[in-house]
Amino acid sequence: RCEHGSPWHPRAEACRMDSVGDTLQRLRETFSAGRTRPAEFRATQLEGLGRFLRDNKQLLQEALARDLRKGTQLDRAFIRKEPFGLVLIIVPWNYPLNLTLVPLVGALAAGNCVVLKPSEISKNMEQVLAEVLPRYLDQSCFAMVLGGPEETGQLLEHRFDYIFFTGSPRVGRIVMTAAAKHLTPVTLELGGKNPCYVDDNCDPETVANRVAFFRYFNTGQTCVAPDYVLCSPEMQERLLPALQSTIARFFGEDPRSSPNLGRIINDKHFQRLQGLLGCGRVAIGGQSDQSDRYIAPTVLVDVQETEPVMQEEIFGPILPIVNVRSLDEAIDFINRREKPLALYAFSKSSEVVKQVLARTSSGGFCGNDGFMHVSLASLPFGGVGASGMGRYHGKFSFDTFSHHRGCLLRSQGMEKIYSIRYPPYTPRNLRM
Ligand code: NAD
Repeated sequence: RCEHGSPWHPRAEACRMDSVGDTLQRLRETFSAGRTRPAEFRATQLEGLGRFLRDNKQLLQEALARDLRKGTQLDRAFIRKEPFGLVLIIVPWNYPLNLTLVPLVGALAAGNCVVLKPSEISKNMEQVLAEVLPRYLDQSCFAMVLGGPEETGQLLEHRFDYIFFTGSPRVGRIVMTAAAKHLTPVTLELGGKNPCYVDDNCDPETVANRVAFFRYFNTGQTCVAPDYVLCSPEMQERLLPALQSTIARFFGEDPRSSPNLGRIINDKHFQRLQGLLGCGRVAIGGQSDQSDRYIAPTVLVDVQETEPVMQEEIFGPILPIVNVRSLDEAIDFINRREKPLALYAFSKSSEVVKQVLARTSSGGFCGNDGFMHVSLASLPFGGVGASGMGRYHGKFSFDTFSHHRGCLLRSQGMEKIYSIRYPPYTPRNLRM
């Protein structure tokens, strides 16, 4: 800090450059400690701003007058929601119909023209969409472009007015870089690792049912699936037999022959997942068969944070359990990592669930269940940080695909009153 007491002091250029890092660090520490969150703190800051305006009215008016000769009066103001124009929607393979239609509804409802790029990996759905969907829409406002990375890359060279991308963080970066060339706004619906904290104060059977249902749903190929469990060693001992019997109840003694368990989308993902089975120690499941792209519902224990299964999004029917000794340690573990798309906390104590909610950040949150929050059209769905930006579902979709145009309309009347804003400025009109 400089002798002016602030590293941002305009005349303290040298010390300002030196201490920017320290200042940012100080602000981050304040934020991490949760100081800015209580309503009382925020109200105090806003009251401070109010006092700043009142106490310094004269000073500020003089500065504005010297800088900009500024003065204004507002009339009738409103927000006009307008379509952006030409929108590009890029879709992944794991829910190839839902993740096509839900953004498409928002884009068309708001009045945009749409280019749709389905996933080339879910090739059967790609073909059906290409053949059938255009028949139901006015061809003057809708087009589809088919292909994989190369074709999508070429498409992204064109100028769009909005890009809505659902997929991996890796490709999300490619899309955002391409959009930046045209200053095109984006929504990025990405993935990541969604933590699932299980407190000691839980009924293991209930937790096992709910975690297993949402982890193995769509064979684990869900962006909001609980990716790993954080719990104490004691809770793990109670949870494992419960998970074992839940999995047997859901999928039978031989899950391979169960009609309720799907398969891995392709060989590449199968091999990636097979590699992850080597992490930690298999406590449940672990079987796989490449010829059928089958992977059994699996639970891994003794998993280290540095192992691949804890480094990448799993996106398959594998559930690692990582041990933590306390709620604080679980929260530290979560906050050390990228902000997830979804976060789950299980406890009979609502205080524990509230603590996890209050002391972490994630795209969405659900207490004592899996991704039910995503099913409500009344809630926005989207990521934060590395899990994405922007939100949609229900009315939020309409807003996402609309430009919010701030408008002011004024009549030609009352010119006498407005004339006080015009120069030359005299002590008389400044007083008014
Ligand atoms: P992906 O990022 O590989 O592909 C998504 C889309 O991008 C596809 O249409 C694909 O053709 C295109 N693409 C792929 N590589 C490209 C490149 N190099 N340049 C330009 N375009 C490219 O994702 P995926 O494997 O289809 O889907 C899985 C990922 O999607 C997971 O990370 C998952 O978490 C995420 N996901 C997120 C949500 C959400 O709502 N947040 C929903 C479903 C899936």
